[in-house]
Amino acid sequence: MTPRHDPDVVVIGAGPAGATAACVLGDRGHRVLLIDRASFPRAKVCGCCLAPGGQGILRSLGLGDLVEEGVPLDTTIVHGAGRSTTLDFRGSVTLSRERLDAALIEAARRRHVEFLPRTSAVVTAGDEVELRPLDASTAPPPDTLRPKAIVVADGLGGRALDGRPEFRWRIAGRNRFGVGTLVEGVRDAPRRGQLLMLTDRAGYLGVATLEDGRVDLAAALHPERTRLGGGPAATCARILGDAGLAGLADAAAAAKWRGTPSLTRSRRSVAAGRVFCIGDAGGYVEPFTGEGMSWGMEAGVAVAPFVEATLDGGAAGPWNRAHARLLSARRRRCRTVAFAIRHPRAAMPVMRLLGRLPRIGRRLAGVASGQSRPPADVGAIG
Ligand SMILES: Cc1cc2nc3c(=O)[nH]c(=O)nc-3n(C[C@H](O)[C@H](O)[C@H](O)COP(=O)(O)OP(=O)(O)OC[C@H]3O[C@@H](n4cnc5c(N)ncnc54)[C@H](O)[C@@H]3O)c2cc1C
Repeated sequence: MTPRHDPDVVVIGAGPAGATAACVLGDRGHRVLLIDRASFPRAKVCGCCLAPGGQGILRSLGLGDLVEEGVPLDTTIVHGAGRSTTLDFRGSVTLSRERLDAALIEAARRRHVEFLPRTSAVVTAGDEVELRPLDASTAPPPDTLRPKAIVVADGLGGRALDGRPEFRWRIAGRNRFGVGTLVEGVRDAPRRGQLLMLTDRAGYLGVATLEDGRVDLAAALHPERTRLGGGPAATCARILGDAGLAGLADAAAAAKWRGTPSLTRSRRSVAAGRVFCIGDAGGYVEPFTGEGMSWGMEAGVAVAPFVEATLDGGAAGPWNRAHARLLSARRRRCRTVAFAIRHPRAAMPVMRLLGRLPRIGRRLAGVASGQSRPPADVGAIG
């Protein structure tokens, strides 16, 4: 494509949602510019469990080998209120965000998508995109683009639409925030295939071993209880220590943690003018069920025909209803599971019972994590 000027579509944010949308639109022959303020590979606050829906999309994009690199999960150990129970939990794989996100961007580039890292983008009131290079010494000067469509996939912390009141965030009360880190060489790390889920009044913490042997820790925490507990590192170390994982607790106390803004949120609208929101940028619910990446990728596929309608002169508005149809039932399920996890004293007896009734437990664990649906594929969604 001609460098940067007047692409058909600008995609802001090259996480799983944005990179998937760029791949699909590139496949359909459109001139796409994908922009991210980060350079890749980069880590992110994430449990790194990729559900079957996301795996199906990777395969549809020719990234089956990447799925094979992931570590298949077989068991979840849930610990809360001083007790633990083991549940059969199959279908997801763990895969580092460094590996997944970089591979998706590479797949987009193979489809002739132009990728611009280290560049922050903002959408103006007139549906233009202002580019702000972050490496002032090496990058070209700021630029303004006028694409026919803009896909905003800038995640929870994204501010690309701050100047557009019609997209204002509605942020839930009693909210939690996310934290995450990666550690290695820890003696009581979970074995490959095992997901530890530790619940506590301060929040919940997921622990899993990645494809490269590092251990991913990701938590959704209550802000006030975390502050009183001495901050994210001390709080997560205490949760791990209470579960009898002294090695992981020491590693967590010493690790550098990344954070996110408040998790549960929605937008007034996810489409207006020529602008479409997908992934976390379209709204988010607490992450216990480990599906955010797959939802983002599914939205990245599903938005393509709506974007194409805009290229032909239509408006983005119909994406509002389609987006709600795609996600609202899943978000309700996610809220229900998150509610149960906030109350471990009530939830643990049910979990223990499920551990003793493996067939029902497996079925409910599948429903809770969205794995009871068949894997999505690009054709079926798009
Ligand atoms: C504690 C925790 C645990 C989780 N565990 C899981 C899990 O196990 N499995 C799962 O599937 N999901 C999980 N999630 C959710 C998952 O991380 C997100 O849903 C997923 O990353 C969303 O993808 P995305 O592409 O929408 O956004 P992101 O992955 O956040 O990507 C957004 C991108 O936009 C870029 N960006 C932001 N602003 C701009 C700008 N102005 N200009 C240019 N670029 C910009 C950022 O640099 C970033 O690369 C978890 C989340 C949390 C908080």
